[in-house]
Amino acid sequence: MTQYAFFKGGIVPIGEAKISVMTHALNYGTGCFEGIRAYWNPEEEQLLVFRMHEHYERLLHSMGILMMERRYTADELEHVTVELLQMEGYRTDCYIRPIAYKTDEIIGVKLHGLHDDIAIWTTPFGRYVENEEGAHVGFSSWQRVSDNNIPPRGKITGAYANTAFIKTEAVLNGFDEALVLNRNGFVSEGSAENVFMVRDGVLITPPAGEDILEGITRATMIELAREELGLQVIERPISRTEFYVADEAFFTGTGVQVAAIVKVDHRPVGSGAMGPIVKAIRNLYFDVVRGRVRKYRRWCTPVYAEVPHPSASLRAGLATAR
Ligand code: PMP
Repeated sequence: MTQYAFFKGGIVPIGEAKISVMTHALNYGTGCFEGIRAYWNPEEEQLLVFRMHEHYERLLHSMGILMMERRYTADELEHVTVELLQMEGYRTDCYIRPIAYKTDEIIGVKLHGLHDDIAIWTTPFGRYVENEEGAHVGFSSWQRVSDNNIPPRGKITGAYANTAFIKTEAVLNGFDEALVLNRNGFVSEGSAENVFMVRDGVLITPPAGEDILEGITRATMIELAREELGLQVIERPISRTEFYVADEAFFTGTGVQVAAIVKVDHRPVGSGAMGPIVKAIRNLYFDVVRGRVRKYRRWCTPVYAEVPHPSASLRAGLATAR
């Protein structure tokens, strides 16, 4: 399905976007990346990229951590992404994968004195976790990487070997996903998603210092919960068994979106089904990402020219006529 990629400074057919087996990033994990979603809005016949600016700002931060040259600004990368999506012409939900990587074809593990480049590719995309409405999760026997080994604050390719160990163990043990403890024995996040729990109507999530990725969906959720649902949100360390006694719990992430956690380590969370707060926050999130909430439309970048489509104005006319 994917036809094009941004590669070595220009948009090329996907088949030409190839790197050597000698590439530093492939051999040593010295790359960093983003995962961005674009949502199809059928009423407007428009593709909307969600919080693209924040994703590219985070990519630039990850690149800084890896001592990469930042030759593009977030604005320039956003511009290229829109152009790429227009060329693909998607009329469905999709995923955007920017990746910055050390390009040198040499032996030698280090960060300094190397060259790097950014590639971007896109693909139609649906669900990341099968069981978004009721995930069964187990605590991983693996520990989350920490700020003093591979900083989780950066979205560093090499650190995703940690994710892969965690995810595979969880799935082969019959779970949909995993929760992961950090070096201090507190909950960090899922394999590739942030986590929240609800206790007595309050949302609680681990703070940025607990070896988490500073998730954009996490930030979105904190803002929506406070502003739209009037909920109190607290960032504080969470221990494993607090999830056993939580009323509700959920994952957030670009891939997973908002997924209800209904069982942890074989124990039901709350009623053992998606609870009212998760339900409300999920519905709100899906409206926001599809550009249906005017206040948060600023988070949605339109891909196609915003000329009202005849059928859209006809529908609008019909709606007013009713
Ligand atoms: N944690 C990890 C380890 C992740 O890979 C992701 C996915 N990017 C997240 C959390 C969620 O982050 P975001 O909401 O920015 O996608």
